[in-house]
Amino acid sequence: MSNSRVYNFAAGPSVLPLSVLERAGAEITNYRGSGMSVMEMSHRSKAFMDIFQETQDKLRRLMNVPEDYHILFLQTGASGQFSMIPLNLIGETGRANYAVTGNFSGLAAKEAKKYGRITLACDTGDRNHSYIPRQEELTLDKEAGYFYYCANNTIFGTEWDYVPETGDVPLVCDMSSDILSMPVDVSKFGIIYAGAQKNMAPAGLTVVIIRDGLQGHELPYTPLMMNYKTMIDKDSMYNTPPCWCIYMLGLTLDWVAENGGAAGMEALKWQRANMLYDTLENSRLFRLHAEKGSRSGMNVTFRTGDEALDAKFVREATEAGFVNLKGHRLTGGMRASIYNAMPVEGVEKLCDFIRSFDKNN
Ligand SMILES: *Cc1c(COP(=O)(O)O)cnc(C)c1O
Repeated sequence: MSNSRVYNFAAGPSVLPLSVLERAGAEITNYRGSGMSVMEMSHRSKAFMDIFQETQDKLRRLMNVPEDYHILFLQTGASGQFSMIPLNLIGETGRANYAVTGNFSGLAAKEAKKYGRITLACDTGDRNHSYIPRQEELTLDKEAGYFYYCANNTIFGTEWDYVPETGDVPLVCDMSSDILSMPVDVSKFGIIYAGAQKNMAPAGLTVVIIRDGLQGHELPYTPLMMNYKTMIDKDSMYNTPPCWCIYMLGLTLDWVAENGGAAGMEALKWQRANMLYDTLENSRLFRLHAEKGSRSGMNVTFRTGDEALDAKFVREATEAGFVNLKGHRLTGGMRASIYNAMPVEGVEKLCDFIRSFDKNN
């Protein structure tokens, strides 16, 4: 078996910091003298309760989460929030306003239609989700119980570069693929949520940051496990939480703190992304999917326009140690996901590879 690690550009689950994996490895059979693995511990044990509390505290510090917000560690998957959000928030007005800028926000809007009247703030499907609308282009619904959007469109490679202004209508945001990649003013949001497997931890954990007071208005048939109030009242411990993933999140948060926190992550994000965008823009062969001004710092989508040549690129890149660059079927071409844990060096080397492929084909 080879010991060498590849540069993994997977969209999710995705690369984790090497030091995090090494620390988890060192502690895997005996967590700090407990004589057992975190995977084997009772979620009610002192050792695990400490991990849980510390991880919550670290996230609160790194994201500057105000005191009147709860941080939940759930198992729903990001997709589970597509149902949980309308079930809990739509009751008061019976309607909600959705910005559809990609696959996941489209799925979220479709799911929400089961529970109330959904108005669209925008739908960027007219140009295959290659752009983000400006504030003045949004059709806001002042009667809506909440406004929903997805901050970074993982599949299409676009990212909002502003937080929409929605007046008194609470903002709900899917930050699955760009959470902790920049400082965020949490106080502007009603709910921020993220599946952990893109930028934070292994798959199996969904982080929800929710303003106090948004719970307790659920539709009467809301399942127990889909009720924010159940989870807030029991501090995410109504049942067994995803213990191992919470521990891994804690290790990743230490790594983020050691590397300059959210601001440090933002600097690295644009260092990586700008390098890749410049290289692709200066090539002969490659074209970018996302329009200028809407481009994601996390998922870079590009193609040659020739499917056979795209396939050759992906094949030769894989052979050179740059893996998982094939694009999602909805976009085609290639996608390089360059999350927090992707070393700048990995992108530098990918750019070298792109330049030589461009010259030789
Ligand atoms: C991956 C992803 C999802 C779906 O996540 P699951 O945890 O697999 O349900 C939703 N939204 C965004 C933005 C994503 O990147």
